[in-house]
Amino acid sequence: MKNLLKSIVENSKEYTKEGKVASYIPELSKANRDALGICVVTLDGKEYFAGDFEEKFTVQSISKVVSLMLAILENGKKNVFSKVGMEPTGDSFNSIMSLEVKNPQKPFNPMINAGAIVTTSLITGDSSEEKIENILSFTRKITDNKEIGINEEVYMSEKLTGNRNRALAYFMKSNGHIDGDVEEILDVYFKQCAMEINCRDIARIGAVLANDGVLPWSGERVISRETSRIVKTIMVTCGMYDASGEFAVHIGIPAKSGVGGGIMASVPRRMGIGVYGPSLDSKGNSIGGIKILQELSEELDLSIF
Ligand code: GLU
Repeated sequence: MKNLLKSIVENSKEYTKEGKVASYIPELSKANRDALGICVVTLDGKEYFAGDFEEKFTVQSISKVVSLMLAILENGKKNVFSKVGMEPTGDSFNSIMSLEVKNPQKPFNPMINAGAIVTTSLITGDSSEEKIENILSFTRKITDNKEIGINEEVYMSEKLTGNRNRALAYFMKSNGHIDGDVEEILDVYFKQCAMEINCRDIARIGAVLANDGVLPWSGERVISRETSRIVKTIMVTCGMYDASGEFAVHIGIPAKSGVGGGIMASVPRRMGIGVYGPSLDSKGNSIGGIKILQELSEELDLSIF
């Protein structure tokens, strides 16, 4: 496995030159475009690495999976899905159009920004500090990493420039999609996106989902089998932005990407995979990361279809 991962990372390296690092959050533009790494965590607890697997990056949209797991755990699926839908949009992740024109009842799904802001608004806690602590401690649990914290520079960078998310959130407040103080909800959302992780952390999240909600390293159940199934299904249909269909056809693994360059993937009953490569394609997915997952899926026959 180790040699396979090493050769796949090497084969995928050249593609990083074809993409760009995200710059709409200014701090993200400092990432090293050539970095590429992978970690695989199997359900018997073995971990395999290659490339720049130790590099830290911000979780960004992969946090939408974590907040969805936690929101369902705390509120139940009925409450959560009364406020956010389950349908892919085909639009970009920060589109505002669908909120007014296509589906004014609720945001389409929890993987687009509007839907994720709703999910975050459902996390319990008496203050925004308590809510982010709640998300952080759940993330530390499902990664088995107590060190996970927030990258303050990336958080502040998005807080200062995140006007599109602000527009989405105020629009949803005016429609009654979200309750509570908009700036406080956004603060929690910006912080959850700025959690700093590495390939191993996201591979472990993938492994927990692959293991139907049970931590493979301790046997403790953190979410129900049903929640785990719901989350993986939404990852298949909506996890890779408006390239989710293509990703399902070519790679066929439930996955969620983030503009920080990470992709978290979960192969049911087999493994969790974390890849990192901040050079992104035009849809916002790690260009080298997708190549890695494609080759790995072909080599190990990982497609669920
Ligand atoms: N924090 C980012 C945003 O809301 C996350 C986007 C992403 O990773 O897709 O714009």
